[in-house]
Amino acid sequence: SILRWPAAAPARDKLLGSLLVDGFDEGSCRSRYQSSMYRRNAGREPSPQLVSKLRRHEDLQRRCGPGTAAYSDAVESLRSGKSGAGIGSPECRYLVSISYRGLGNRILAAASAFLYALLTDRVLLVDPSHEMEELFCEPFPGTTWLLPPGFPLTSYTNFSIDTAERYGNMLKNKVITTGPGDVPMALLPAFAYVHLDHTSTQEDQFFFCDDDQRVLRNIPWLVMRTDNYIVPGLFLVTGFQAELDVLFPEPDAVFHHLGRYLFHPTNHIWGLVTRYYEAYLAAAQQRVGIQVRVFGSQPESPKLLEQITTCTQKENLLPEVIAAGRAPLVAPAPPRRVESKAVLITSLKSWYYEKMKSMYWEHAAATGEAVSVHQPSHEEYQHFGARSHDAKAWAEIYLLSLSDVLVTSGWSTFGYVAQGLGGLTPWVMHKPANDSATADPPCGRDASMEPCFHSPPFYDCRLKRGADTGKIVPHVRHCDDVEWGLKLV
Ligand code: GDP
Repeated sequence: SILRWPAAAPARDKLLGSLLVDGFDEGSCRSRYQSSMYRRNAGREPSPQLVSKLRRHEDLQRRCGPGTAAYSDAVESLRSGKSGAGIGSPECRYLVSISYRGLGNRILAAASAFLYALLTDRVLLVDPSHEMEELFCEPFPGTTWLLPPGFPLTSYTNFSIDTAERYGNMLKNKVITTGPGDVPMALLPAFAYVHLDHTSTQEDQFFFCDDDQRVLRNIPWLVMRTDNYIVPGLFLVTGFQAELDVLFPEPDAVFHHLGRYLFHPTNHIWGLVTRYYEAYLAAAQQRVGIQVRVFGSQPESPKLLEQITTCTQKENLLPEVIAAGRAPLVAPAPPRRVESKAVLITSLKSWYYEKMKSMYWEHAAATGEAVSVHQPSHEEYQHFGARSHDAKAWAEIYLLSLSDVLVTSGWSTFGYVAQGLGGLTPWVMHKPANDSATADPPCGRDASMEPCFHSPPFYDCRLKRGADTGKIVPHVRHCDDVEWGLKLV
């Protein structure tokens, strides 16, 4: 018989092994407790240490977050430019995470900031730009993770390489020094801007060194800009390693846990996800997600189409088709017994979807399977700051994460988020060396489900010299898609 959700999906633990805390109002964010019902892949279990760390961190967010006396005091100290020493509540320190660039980048940046906040006992406050509130539910019970209006650093969203309070700049100008002659706490600035995007300098990258972390710990406010998944860099900081080992005994599942903890689609987005899933994907025996990232005004590429079909067929993710007029190898079963696969394609263009759909309509599958092909939207090009555009992107990332198997485009943070949320190690389609080359092999199984850190440090903090950071710590290696990048395996 044709299996249908929810009969096919085993009953799941809605709290994901206590990763999530019970007691949120279910109606205000339906995805939070419903997501487990939509996943065939139950995902990894969080360690008990991670669970208790999250509960303690939720307490910290409530105790020090917006609306508390501690928060008002800390904001007042920042306004008057005083450092933390002796002022306000010493156990309340803050990390403001700036949100910029595409949705995938923003999600990875917020997850990275959250892990840094966990490791350093800082309250995480996210920049509310780009409709954060319309896309994501509140992750922390009884408080808010959104930076409230009235933040004294009024131009923080424009902080850049030119900002005087940039950590790397203050190091360079000796406003801050590290090592034996650490600056006395009272002389530290009230805040530092941590600049970790692709333009960051070597001094900025000292962020990933122990000496620098010791100094940063005493600065009450940090504002961080990154468009990257900096987590592999945090694993290079020896001072964090013992705790990371305990929190994440499976280091290939860090984003998997952080992502499922933090990012819950709001009810509007959840409607987009569940309606689409139920209408087009639920009835199939298997769901194959294919993320086709096309950049700019890149033309429709027969080469890329061929890469997609050879990848999926060679890896047995989708059946080959029989040339027109040939008899199928497997006699078609009676209709009710036909095995079915639903292919979910996400792309800015509709051309790849049209071609795949025609292929499985005009030709029989060699296995006799029924293959349906679906694509929720085709936005044509990347828009910035457009509300419905981000909503669709988020819904599509989430739908991809509900696949049973996943094929992604290398380099794309959009795909990284989907694979991490879904707990899926993807098959990655690599970019060929140049436009006329063919990618061979068309795709390969990734080393883990973790995102790749695209602009990592190249510095050994202990030896104080340039080094291959993919060779220092066992679980931090270079990525397959971005060869100089770092990822956890
Ligand atoms: P990356 O650039 O691939 O690393 O991913 P980002 O998510 O950071 O930025 C790409 C942006 O382009 C997304 O956030 C979307 O706004 C848009 N985009 C790219 N591919 C797709 C797609 O398949 N579907 C939709 N709806 N939007 C896409």
